[in-house]
Amino acid sequence: MNNRNPNAPRQQQNGRAGTSAGRSGQAARGSVRSAQPGIQSRGATAGAGSAQRSPSSRTVSAGNNTQQSVRSRQYDPGLVNAEIRRKKEAGYREAEQKRKNMRSVGVKIAMTLAFYVILFGVFALFFSIKLSHTNAADDSSFRYTYGNAEENVSARFALNSSGDPMVDFSKIAEMCSMKAAGDDKEMKFIASDSEENVRFVIGGVTVFINGVQDALSCPSVKNGASLWVPLDFVTDCMSGLTVESDLSSRRVSVKRTENEGSTASAPSFAPVSYSLKSFTAFDQISEDDLQANRPGSQTSEPEKPTFISDLSAYEEYMNPSGNKYLSLVNYITPLSSSYIPDDLTDVADTRSDRAKVQLRKDAAKALEALFIEMRANGIMDVSVTSAYRSYEYQKQLHNSYIQNEMATYGLTWAEAKQKVITYSSEPGTSEHQTGLCVDMHNLPSADISFARTEAYRWLKENAHKFGFILRYPEEKVNVTQISFEPWHYRYVGRYHATKMYESGMCLEEYVVTIKS
Ligand SMILES: [Zn+2]
Repeated sequence: MNNRNPNAPRQQQNGRAGTSAGRSGQAARGSVRSAQPGIQSRGATAGAGSAQRSPSSRTVSAGNNTQQSVRSRQYDPGLVNAEIRRKKEAGYREAEQKRKNMRSVGVKIAMTLAFYVILFGVFALFFSIKLSHTNAADDSSFRYTYGNAEENVSARFALNSSGDPMVDFSKIAEMCSMKAAGDDKEMKFIASDSEENVRFVIGGVTVFINGVQDALSCPSVKNGASLWVPLDFVTDCMSGLTVESDLSSRRVSVKRTENEGSTASAPSFAPVSYSLKSFTAFDQISEDDLQANRPGSQTSEPEKPTFISDLSAYEEYMNPSGNKYLSLVNYITPLSSSYIPDDLTDVADTRSDRAKVQLRKDAAKALEALFIEMRANGIMDVSVTSAYRSYEYQKQLHNSYIQNEMATYGLTWAEAKQKVITYSSEPGTSEHQTGLCVDMHNLPSADISFARTEAYRWLKENAHKFGFILRYPEEKVNVTQISFEPWHYRYVGRYHATKMYESGMCLEEYVVTIKS
């Protein structure tokens, strides 16, 4: 999913490069074609000249031969000497003619060579202009300033797949004299003046700020010695740096914040330190927020649904009070590795050939009601394949995918990681750790084809009545950053589930409206 976007512009660039190369090739071929008639016409003229001269010289020597044969019949020594002289002279003339011919051939060769040298020169000039033009017109490059150092960077590294700016953290570390250590999996940077540290998991969103796990807004990327991280990490989680970015003029500048009284000759800088983003994954919506949205205030309670089955014993689970089940867990707001729900309860409708999966109590009971009603509506073959997953389990699962990608495709750890995060949540960012969501379907394994079943159609239209939402809808992929999962349902309670069902909002959007 993350890979799709960056590929598209790259393909376009390749396309453009191909076209311009094709165009220059055509131009080059054109100039060869127009040049060749020139060579031919000049060669033809020179050849015609020498051809005209040689018949006349042959006429002369033929005349000599006639005279010689007449004279030999009337022998005379004076005439013989004169004859010898004439022969010699004729020999000289012939040799002279040969030399002239040779010179003419030499001139022709030299001219041809000179022509090709000039042609080559024109080509070289043409291509150098073309190349320098391409460089000058490469408006995709960004200008980065780190302190006093500047560099141009391709947009491929400067922007992430959402078009947000990235920054080379290695350069910032260098500017701030941080101690850097790490390998292909992780990089750690320690601020020299505060001993505070940050550790990035390369290719993922996981970051440890002074040992506490947090998440980047997009995965970090290693390129040679450089480690690219989203620029908002620097603005949101660091102090002691002054950041300016102007995407329209393609400039990003990161400088150390100077203390008052700092001068060019004696600069003094504010210490660099890190801080966690100000959120807590759980209970980020206060009771006051909730009261404003409960019955009797601005909005009214959604109409109580009617069921075929008698589900009155489940009413308290389907329609809980409070907002405790609205917590948002995603790649931006992860759970801590130590979070384990304290009321995990076995799920009655776990697939029969699997070990019982668990959910938090209210969710487990509400799901039981959903299954009773679903069966009453004739849908008998759906079962639960996954529910609560511990941090450790998600970590194992995620790492096994990475190992598998490395073994199957010969990828490095970092390459495999970047691929795996497009389909498997990083530990801490999986909603399954909340104990509030469930995968249910009637296929051997979860598959997009579930969306074409009658069971899916029923769940989509009825899940909210039991307190569940379709968590990753097809039309919200750009918000959730998770591909469409017709089998994954999240428990939030009937009130909020119905609000989301009626408004068409996904959890990310709904939480924002409730908080504002
Ligand atoms: Zn799931």
